[in-house]
Amino acid sequence: MTTSHDAALRLSADKRAASEKKRRRGILAPESLVDPNKFLPITYPWARQCYKDGIANNWIPEEVAMMGDIEQWRSQTVLSEDERRMILWNLGFFSTAESLTANNIVLTLYKYITNPECRQYLLRQAYEEAVHNDMFVYICDSLSLDPDEVYSMYETIPSIAAKDEFVINMTRSLLDPAHQIDIETLEGKQTLVSDLIGFYVIMEGIFFYAGFAMMLSLMRQQKMVGVAEQFQYTLRDESVHLAFGQYLINAIVAENPELWTPEFQAQQIAHIRHAVELEYAYAQDALPRGILGLRSDVIYQYLQHIADRRLERINLPAQYGAENPFPWMSEIMDLNKEKNFFETRVTEYQHGSALEW
Ligand code: FE
Ligand code: MN
Repeated sequence: MTTSHDAALRLSADKRAASEKKRRRGILAPESLVDPNKFLPITYPWARQCYKDGIANNWIPEEVAMMGDIEQWRSQTVLSEDERRMILWNLGFFSTAESLTANNIVLTLYKYITNPECRQYLLRQAYEEAVHNDMFVYICDSLSLDPDEVYSMYETIPSIAAKDEFVINMTRSLLDPAHQIDIETLEGKQTLVSDLIGFYVIMEGIFFYAGFAMMLSLMRQQKMVGVAEQFQYTLRDESVHLAFGQYLINAIVAENPELWTPEFQAQQIAHIRHAVELEYAYAQDALPRGILGLRSDVIYQYLQHIADRRLERINLPAQYGAENPFPWMSEIMDLNKEKNFFETRVTEYQHGSALEW
């Protein structure tokens, strides 16, 4: 005899089986085929780990004291003209690059990436980009910089404009509201992966790194340590963004191997090589004479070194074979975060101001 209770159980078992099927459709399944509200079971543990790593890195700009920086910035003797130029170029580039990245997450990625734990990380990352945006407001306010100057450098300084335009061009079709990609087609999938490589590998993984090297060198000279410390916290956040982006790209490619054609791979390698040249041009422009023991040709070698690491992480061949000229940077950025990333234990909450490298 079948009771209504048995029937109800059978119905819910059927529903569970159907929803299990939905979950297995992968990262890019349209919302009609997945349930983006079902967080458990977790399909992609790396996405959850990135979320936890992001939480462990919590910080806000106001925790960093700026009195010393304000004095040094006002002084006519502490900073050279070249050092001021280098600082301004980095503020000019980062202040708008963070906003471009945040917009890409919210307006583009969130639409196409429907897996719940990946979306959860995108929400966390979007918050971190908001913190980074706030950092440049805090620095501009503290140093009484001209906001019109800093926030228009991405249009007025050619070496900065060239970087932003390059990433935006790689992703233009996705940002155009009139142009909806069909994520079930080969072309749609390739367009999205190209966006991910544009923002995670090139913008956050290459275009941020000459700036990080310059600002952290400054810190090693005890100059503008409040500004530099915020760059250091940003770097720590960005290395998780980068790890997430690389895992995401590799998972999408594994689920959709047909998109990873030799032509597509060659195109992405060409983009990354071009990005290294743009970043080198930016470094030469920001550091025309070299300062702080940093010269732009050494930064070039550093960029080639990190580009090779980024390529390898998404299963593309290294292009340069350059040695790392800044082992101290690698200690801070590559090791610290990635070591953490592969640890499965719950990372203790680390407050930004309590951090020691
Ligand atoms: Fe950021
Ligand atoms: Mn970021």
